[in-house]
Amino acid sequence: MRRWSELAERIAATSRTSEKVGLLADYLASLSPDELPIAAVFLTGRPLPETDRRSAGLGWATIATTVTTLAGVSRPALGQAYDRSSDLGVAVMDVLADAGHRPDPGRAPSLADVAAAYAAVEAAGGPARKGERFAELLARCDPLTAKYVVKVLSGDLRIGLRDGHLEAAIAAAFGRDPEAVAWAGMLTGDLAETARLARDGRLAEARLTLFRPITCMLATPAADAAEVVARMTPPVWVEDKYDGIRAQLHKEGARVRLYSRDRNDVSDAFPEVVAAAAGLPWDGILDGELLGWRDGTVLPFQSLQARLGRKRPSAALLAEVPVIFVAFDALALGPGGGAPVKPLLRRPLHERRARLEALGLDATPGFGLAALDRAGDAAALDAIFDAARERGNEGLMIKDPGSTYAPGRRGIAWLKLKRPLATLDCVVVGVETGHGRRHGVLSDWTFAVRDDRPGAPDGRLVTISKAYSGLTDAELAEMTRWFEAHTVSQHGRYRVVEPTVVVELAFDVVMASPRHASGFALRFPRIVRIRDDKPAAEADTVGAVAAIHARLAAGGRGSE
Ligand code: AMP
Repeated sequence: MRRWSELAERIAATSRTSEKVGLLADYLASLSPDELPIAAVFLTGRPLPETDRRSAGLGWATIATTVTTLAGVSRPALGQAYDRSSDLGVAVMDVLADAGHRPDPGRAPSLADVAAAYAAVEAAGGPARKGERFAELLARCDPLTAKYVVKVLSGDLRIGLRDGHLEAAIAAAFGRDPEAVAWAGMLTGDLAETARLARDGRLAEARLTLFRPITCMLATPAADAAEVVARMTPPVWVEDKYDGIRAQLHKEGARVRLYSRDRNDVSDAFPEVVAAAAGLPWDGILDGELLGWRDGTVLPFQSLQARLGRKRPSAALLAEVPVIFVAFDALALGPGGGAPVKPLLRRPLHERRARLEALGLDATPGFGLAALDRAGDAAALDAIFDAARERGNEGLMIKDPGSTYAPGRRGIAWLKLKRPLATLDCVVVGVETGHGRRHGVLSDWTFAVRDDRPGAPDGRLVTISKAYSGLTDAELAEMTRWFEAHTVSQHGRYRVVEPTVVVELAFDVVMASPRHASGFALRFPRIVRIRDDKPAAEADTVGAVAAIHARLAAGGRGSE
């Protein structure tokens, strides 16, 4: 694990893709058959394989307790170390180094030891037992190794490595065609498995596996219709952007499962959709949106929220907020009856759509088909946008009809157009108690976006705004408890919190401002909703903010 950690340091230290890939390829080629899949899993920034839906389930609080006990330092000391780097792994390394933590090199953990320890953490019941398993591992790690053991465990690797780099390195390490590696990665959804197949020369054996969710294709935000037609040659394909929950439906005979955007199985929360799909005469994988729907109209997202987080909804709730699956893509299809399912990921969108339309979902109870239109210019797009809003939808998704399905990529083959003025998905990095009626609740929040400026370290968050949260008292009480349990350090009234809560912010204007690290500030920011479905790694960027700022400035709308 020490060697893996040194490699991670070297990858983090270079911004040149060719150098990252070269370092990785040499490393991967040097590993034993047993080590290769483990190293690959850790390089994806996960403690357990991608296809393993378990999670280690060790929170920041337990990690902090383990580290402070081991190093014999106080919790505020770890908090201060965190404040210097905003990185838990670096903070752990620093406090262990300062405490002179020098374990016996003879007991240094191998990759297999670390993998076994992560599995033991996962299997242990309750934070205390999980903490004990983690402490056993950490006691054997030198500070640098501890940094990466913590980063991988907390799913926060941040060394500037994309899955694409890893695929390129796997191809180079074993002398395989990069296209074949990428395709195998797409089909298996598992880079460890892909590395194994590449090493053994068996890439052609990679198969798409039903009930193993594929990473979702993502969209790039566009500010307005003019930007859309500037980026994508018209006529463009335009679908309504439904304001629901992204879901991938897998079906084989009567077996049906639904997976969320972060690839969790959410089937039990939507029994009516599962039941409606079970009897349909095809097998395959559809991409779509779960949507609150009654008597032919869309229910607002707020009512759907009542269904979120309910593992098994009551009959009353099912009746109150009925849900349908609105399909917008077909990722794999077969005729059913045990016949094989064919992957469609590399077929152009117009062909995937034709296959989808042939399923007749618009006339199937419990289902819908995304409304599709075509626009030749910005004016036509604006008209379709208004009609989509009229139908109760959030905006538009603009798609290149010739594009393939690119899992996990935020390319320009899909653009999204939301409200007239875009909202921003920001990460809550700090909270403060409010005044007056809000005394005692953590009601004032500080928001950050991801720093994508050249030279910025991978995953750095920079502040953009501070606002009173504007949530209901009940929501605020719940969030206050959460933030108290996930405070990393405290400075008077201000708490630095675990940067994992993503909120969608509306605002009036973006201004250039030296007050915030992003270089921008939002005027009148308001929380539209908490994005439980979005990880911090998918929050908006300084680049996206700058684009909105430039557009507002061009439009002369009161920006500095
Ligand atoms: P956002 O969550 O704002 O980044 O926008 C992307 C999300 O829009 C996707 O993850 C889907 O959940 C949702 N969405 C709604 N309608 C569509 C559609 N027609 N095509 C693709 N995604 C859609």
